[in-house]
Amino acid sequence: MSELRKDPITGRWVIITTEGQKRPSDFCIEPTEQKPTQFCPLCGGNEDKTPSEVLAYRQNGGAPNSPGWDVRVVPNRVPALQVEGSVERHGDGVFDRMSGIGADEVIIETPDHMQTLATLPESAIAKVLWAFHDRVVDLKQDRRFQSILVFKNHGAAAGAALDHSHSQLIALPIVPRHVREEVDGAHQHYQVKDRCIFCDIIDQEVRGEERVVGESADVVALAPYAPRFPFETWLLPRHHRAFFEDAPRQDIESLSRSIKDVLQRMNRALLMPPYNLVIHSSPFYESTGEFYHWHVEIIPILTKVAGFERGSGFHINPVAPEEAAKVFRTYS
Ligand SMILES: [Zn+2]
Ligand SMILES: [Zn+2]
Ligand SMILES: [Zn+2]
Repeated sequence: MSELRKDPITGRWVIITTEGQKRPSDFCIEPTEQKPTQFCPLCGGNEDKTPSEVLAYRQNGGAPNSPGWDVRVVPNRVPALQVEGSVERHGDGVFDRMSGIGADEVIIETPDHMQTLATLPESAIAKVLWAFHDRVVDLKQDRRFQSILVFKNHGAAAGAALDHSHSQLIALPIVPRHVREEVDGAHQHYQVKDRCIFCDIIDQEVRGEERVVGESADVVALAPYAPRFPFETWLLPRHHRAFFEDAPRQDIESLSRSIKDVLQRMNRALLMPPYNLVIHSSPFYESTGEFYHWHVEIIPILTKVAGFERGSGFHINPVAPEEAAKVFRTYS
């Protein structure tokens, strides 16, 4: 039997089909693996092979662009957007365009080529999150930027150009569509109920339990009610905040534990799949404080997006979230 389900935040419908159930391990079409390599520009010791760093954490000091760092942030060598210039909008009848202003940075999560975000200790994952935090706080001072998307591509099928564990951050002069849809949907819920829909979801899911993957005092990991992709998992901080960069130390540390926990479950259950991780946080200049709620989404790349998805905007998901959460719970 298949079922249509509506995401309560965005109103987006998905099709959940559970016919012909496969074993979870059958889903992974392209397992990822860290292989030693002759040369990698992101490895410790090759600091001169990247653009000059904008941030690095070094426990024992040391000069910029020298070895000894734990996390290092550099501008993307081939940026999607340029930092220099002013934001200019042009219109040509129905067609809008803007100058390609933005910041595109690479967060190198470890100097060690063989580590991944899942294998790093929690304290090292927390440092990666602090690097995200510190870069967002800094870039937010630039009034040209409306929002910043922090994301990770792990594995070639997820869009990673390099195997070395890294994330990316793009500061934008506009608000990305997925964040826009969430903010607008959350605002509608707030106008009717006077509450944050993400907080409502956390309350209901924690009571129901069937879609909960794991929970701590600060973070709940769950399979969303209407996931677009099999084994899609959201990590929601329990404490209501619209902005990731406002999260206190306790939430950052709990989130690093939760990320490691979910990635390890995913790697065991699905055999090291490629995945995307994204942080959704409020646009900078909107009054979203009461109703938007920052969070992390982790999406393993297990299925191909095909004609129906591209043509309709509907996603067909062959794994019910209740089943996905059950599978992840058994792989602790
Ligand atoms: Zn490397
Ligand atoms: Zn909330
Ligand atoms: Zn989201």
